[in-house]
Amino acid sequence: MTIVETDTAQSTRESELLARIPDGLFIGGRWEAGTRDPIEVQDPATGRVIKRIANATPEDGVRALDAAAAAADAWAATAPRVRAEILRRAFDLLQERRDDFALLMTLEMGKPLAEANGEVTYGGEFLRWFSEEAVRISGRFGQNPEGTGTMVVSQRPVGPCYLITPWNFPLAMATRKIAPALAAGCTVVVKPAELTPLTTLFFAQLLADAGVPDGVVNVVQTSTAREVSAPIIADPRLRKLSFTGSTPVGRSLLAQAGQNVLRTSMELGGNAPFVVFDDADLDKAVEGAMLAKFRNIGQACTAANRFIVHESVADEFARRVTEKVEALRIGRGTDDGVTIGPLIDDRAVASMSTLVEDAVSRGARVLTGGSAPEGDGYFFEPTVLVDVQPDSDILREEIFGPILAITTFSTEDEAVTAANSTEYGLVGYVFTQDLARGQRMIDRVDTGMMGLNTGLVSNAAAPFGGVKQSGLGREGGLEGIHEYLSTKYTLIPA
Ligand code: ADP
Repeated sequence: MTIVETDTAQSTRESELLARIPDGLFIGGRWEAGTRDPIEVQDPATGRVIKRIANATPEDGVRALDAAAAAADAWAATAPRVRAEILRRAFDLLQERRDDFALLMTLEMGKPLAEANGEVTYGGEFLRWFSEEAVRISGRFGQNPEGTGTMVVSQRPVGPCYLITPWNFPLAMATRKIAPALAAGCTVVVKPAELTPLTTLFFAQLLADAGVPDGVVNVVQTSTAREVSAPIIADPRLRKLSFTGSTPVGRSLLAQAGQNVLRTSMELGGNAPFVVFDDADLDKAVEGAMLAKFRNIGQACTAANRFIVHESVADEFARRVTEKVEALRIGRGTDDGVTIGPLIDDRAVASMSTLVEDAVSRGARVLTGGSAPEGDGYFFEPTVLVDVQPDSDILREEIFGPILAITTFSTEDEAVTAANSTEYGLVGYVFTQDLARGQRMIDRVDTGMMGLNTGLVSNAAAPFGGVKQSGLGREGGLEGIHEYLSTKYTLIPA
């Protein structure tokens, strides 16, 4: 594979953009400087600090909830059409500011610019989709079975929400929560990941420009997520917690949410199986594998984690995929032609090395990659492992990086057992040209989402989410807005 020598100096365009990004906390429609040592945001391709921004205290967090609570009634009473048009304006503004958002995500998170552009498109679709859903919130009514009255079922905004987002998709994870909440008539406090908060701050400014009233969206980035979150979650004014992140943190948040019987949505970890049958179109399977494994540098909860390949095609699949991996170009995401950026931090790089060492010590072979290249930034070579043994950590843990680990199977039952042997159940990928077999796999693989002969399933119009320890609730689709609505039933006697 090629390592693109990168000019690590910041360009004028980058400096000019970073200077325009707000550096405060956004509370009640005002930017506040914050009172603690700032958060230092790094460019993971160079390890350099690119911006210093305000760092919320637990008191700031509670004040953000004050603002969201104060704005809640007026926003819930705002006509759905008005809410819809504000979201639509936000969608339009995002298209106008597309290049800035894409570059900003590349700078703070590392993904190649082309992928960052893809995220602007994907993230933007949640604004457009939920602008359309805002005016279609409906209920039902009917006579009660006894014939003595009318039963009316309606939907009400659930109330102030706390939204915690991860660093891997800085824009899309924010829009996927904020857009349905606002469409439903809820106000929000957003806590972006401390590693990539700039996109959320820039987006908060965009929402204000689109006409979102003061207090409806508040942002509290912090270096102490647990300390700032706990009092917000314990506050009886909060009505909903939506979290995307790791399963251990999700478990802890669910326990905290239990105290006040909070509504929750949890998008947690994944350990996606990618099953290739002997009758698969191998070109499609290889193409799907590259997308499912190396998009976002493997840092996605939907990333294919375990490649389960029929023994008769495993060597050929490994050979073809290795050829593609060796053609990848590693470097700073802003550089032309780069297809693999850095990982998010040094811990992520160390974790890749540990996973490879463990797999190799148990008998796996490295076909390409396997280590961190010399130099600045948090890079790890895209890697292909074969002969991965069942007891290897890499099959149990969520990899969250560019390692493609291949195991083999001989019968369909074995493939199903392997696919389901995880506590996670977010997404599965199956490659076969036999439609009946594909249908059986869809029924038998225990996940919230499936890709049949494709390596990418995410879509704003579809319900994203998992079963088992991958989470609770769905984001996007018709289901997404219901996470922010509560059902009210009224009986009107005849
Ligand atoms: P990741 O492995 O993707 O960083 P995390 O679950 O650690 O996943 O982080 C996802 C989000 O959860 C981030 O915004 C992070 O700041 C936040 N977070 C981490 N720990 C806690 C916690 N104890 N309470 C609230 N938020 C947390």
